[in-house]
Amino acid sequence: MGLLVQKFGGTSVATPERIHAVAQKISDAQAAGHSLVVVVSAMGDTTDELIALAHQVSKNPPHREMDMLLTAGERISMALLSMALAEKGIHARSFTGSQSGIITTPSHRRARIKRILGDRLRAALAEGSVVIVAGFQGVSETKEVTTLGRGGSDTTAVALAATLGAESCEIYTDVDGIYSADPRVVPEAHFWKTIPYDLMIELAVRGAGVLHPRSVELAREHQVKLFVKNSLSTQNQEGTQVITSTPHGSVADASPAAGNSLASSQQSPPKGMEEFRVAGVTADASKVLVRVQLMRSTVMGAVWGVAASAQLSVVSPHFSQHTLEFFAAREAEEDWKKHLNQLILDGFVKSFEFEQEWVPVSIVGSRFSQDPTALCEIFETLAQSAISVTMGAASALAIHVAVPRNRADEAVQVLHQKFMAESV
Ligand code: ASP
Ligand code: MG
Repeated sequence: MGLLVQKFGGTSVATPERIHAVAQKISDAQAAGHSLVVVVSAMGDTTDELIALAHQVSKNPPHREMDMLLTAGERISMALLSMALAEKGIHARSFTGSQSGIITTPSHRRARIKRILGDRLRAALAEGSVVIVAGFQGVSETKEVTTLGRGGSDTTAVALAATLGAESCEIYTDVDGIYSADPRVVPEAHFWKTIPYDLMIELAVRGAGVLHPRSVELAREHQVKLFVKNSLSTQNQEGTQVITSTPHGSVADASPAAGNSLASSQQSPPKGMEEFRVAGVTADASKVLVRVQLMRSTVMGAVWGVAASAQLSVVSPHFSQHTLEFFAAREAEEDWKKHLNQLILDGFVKSFEFEQEWVPVSIVGSRFSQDPTALCEIFETLAQSAISVTMGAASALAIHVAVPRNRADEAVQVLHQKFMAESV
């Protein structure tokens, strides 16, 4: 049996008991004959607490020092997990991102992985050790410690699986896998045993929250076999597998017994073969609507140039004439303001505003551009519930609208009710 990469999120390592439970899982996988690279997140809410602590000390903490601070969170869990394994007589060695040779771009707080050297990891695996790697961090070419952005440990795990040629990559979290909506908001949400990469990317980008979007992009590109599983429950052990679907939309490698598979062409008997299909409904409260008035429409490139060089993500950009609208991560709001103010001074931007009141709600699925029925039904459904909508746009794989923040859950509920009842 080959190499397995397992990643354990913050809740999975939140307490000493849970760390022991993770050590047991690792021990079982090792007993089954696997060699293991294990990626960990910081314990529980450690990252949030460290951020709050930084803001008690400084109004505007320097990004470099934030990275120094936040990487400590993962360093704590990797060492404790390694100790818990030692307790079981299992030889394990923990490594920081830098020690693992995870080379990133220099942008603090949102660095991208350029390549992974991994020599020390390979050497430790060769000597039979379980390798533990601190998630969400790396080192720049100038030897500065960097972080990959919130939720980035998933991306560490998939990048390691791709580099080390792992058999598969298992992301352990506190839910059973991927649902058609957040089950805390929509209790009847549908569980997917398999889901195609492209739809998973859309769900992740639009706030599904279970997987870091960049991890799914990497998994698709490098054909990493990717699973999402629950580390806390003993009930659903299978989880969700992210799969490749063939051009005909059928399952490439899911098991025939695999219950609900979104890619299966036999699914959804009431639907015509070419009608749109829905994978899920999301609301993304971590995003904020940004509206920018340009001096001239020809200077739009200046805004995207700033976003690209600062590695700020831009979701669902929409522009007409002199106005640009898009969703930005709320945590990047201060950075955006700094850059947009500079663009005002440079004469490119007239004004900008952050619309805190609106969040994106998205329906992710397929064939939306072939069949505009969904577009029409979204607006009708929201109107029936008197939920106002300020903007909307569609692509082949998703339709999104912006709804008031305090009505977002309700919007997800009514849209899920409308679309999922028909889709599965
Ligand atoms: N600990 C980091 C965060 O909370 C990274 C991660 O959990 O993936 O964002
Ligand atoms: Mg996460």
